[in-house]
Amino acid sequence: MSDVRMKGFARRTTVAQALAWLDGHLCILAEEVVPLEKAARRVLARTIVSSVNVPGFARGMMDGYAIRAADVQGASPYGPVVLRVIGRSLPGRPFQGVVESGTAVCIMTGAPLPAGADAVLPAELTENQQWIKGGGEIRAVGDVGPGKHVSGIGSDVAVGQEVLPAGRLLRPQDVGLLSSIGLADVPVVRCPRVRIVTTGDELLPAGARPAGYRIADSNGPMLQALVTRDGGLAELVGPVADQPEAILDAMRGPADVVLVSGGSSVGEEDCAPVLLRQHGQLAVHGIAMRPSSPTGMGILDGRLVFLLPGNPVSCLCAYDFFAGRAIRALGGRSVEWPYRRVRLPLARKIASHIGSVDYLRVRLIDGQVEPLAISGASILSSTTRADGFIILPENCEGLLPDAEVEVFLYDDLQAASRHVGR
Ligand code: AMP
Ligand code: MG
Repeated sequence: MSDVRMKGFARRTTVAQALAWLDGHLCILAEEVVPLEKAARRVLARTIVSSVNVPGFARGMMDGYAIRAADVQGASPYGPVVLRVIGRSLPGRPFQGVVESGTAVCIMTGAPLPAGADAVLPAELTENQQWIKGGGEIRAVGDVGPGKHVSGIGSDVAVGQEVLPAGRLLRPQDVGLLSSIGLADVPVVRCPRVRIVTTGDELLPAGARPAGYRIADSNGPMLQALVTRDGGLAELVGPVADQPEAILDAMRGPADVVLVSGGSSVGEEDCAPVLLRQHGQLAVHGIAMRPSSPTGMGILDGRLVFLLPGNPVSCLCAYDFFAGRAIRALGGRSVEWPYRRVRLPLARKIASHIGSVDYLRVRLIDGQVEPLAISGASILSSTTRADGFIILPENCEGLLPDAEVEVFLYDDLQAASRHVGR
């Protein structure tokens, strides 16, 4: 690919071609082992098979009396059955003897079912309870069948059972289950390390008050948040001045993926594509999409590099189309967008160019989709005012009012369901 600075893109790669190149370069990272308390939201690297039964013993599931079910058949308030209480079984402190016919053992939830017993008669179905003393007699005033209120050996997890599949994004309850089978160290896919290099002579550090002709870095913190969302470990480097040596240096730090924000186009100061072409491979430069057409992708020192346009909306869009996909795939996650989708009708018509994929910010108003903006790549607040976006494919000339569209919602469920006073 030749230097296109100040010449413009002669021809743009289609989004589909760019994705095809990218998908050909994605492979999942190796595994590492983390302790249980660090395992939630990580991706399981291997299918986990249990080497134990849970529970490992027959367990009482109610507070009451361990009995032989046959002893209490037909018991009722009018025809109670008297049983002799011969001891108690507590969680972790089992009764050592045997429940013979005509006897009962006082048992608490979670305690081992004593030998000889085959059911638990809940305390509610007894009279004259001997809870505290654990001796004397009770009267059963109801009956239970064999196995009632008992969880058998391996009834939760059996030895040899596959408990969780490789590739699982671990939920809190998954971590609890792994603990229950005695797994202290969890094999997970390593998180991709992502180096974020923001470039531009005009940039002040993230969060700095804009002054004179200088603006604060928006893309750095935005990309950090996106990378974190996608399971990557973000390291923000910058802002870096528009100087080739400084940018190349910043790109070469330790990482699995490098994101360069700014200087990705064909302007005089846009050196990132040139650097990538000189020192690595610039595989894609210029993509048929709006915004984000000055996006590049390639490889440097064996690592994927994404050249993201400096305009913040373009940066967000290019990240979501390409970089986020790669980071999720390397980390063993789904390449699909992590956005909830809804199908709703358009409130009014929209026009679109044939030949480019459009990323249109929208609001949802009264169950209809209100288009906000396709252009205005520098107006980041167009994405904060929006509820989400729709994608208009290359061959779409536009859509008529009432056309049903698929909206990708920026908010996750939690954020969407709660409105704090403004
Ligand atoms: P560039 O892609 O470097 O040509 O920049 C395009 C536009 O985005 C320019 O107006 C830049 O000032 C602006 N820009 C570049 N990087 C950032 C950034 N990190 N945060 C906010 N705006 C940026
Ligand atoms: Mg720039």
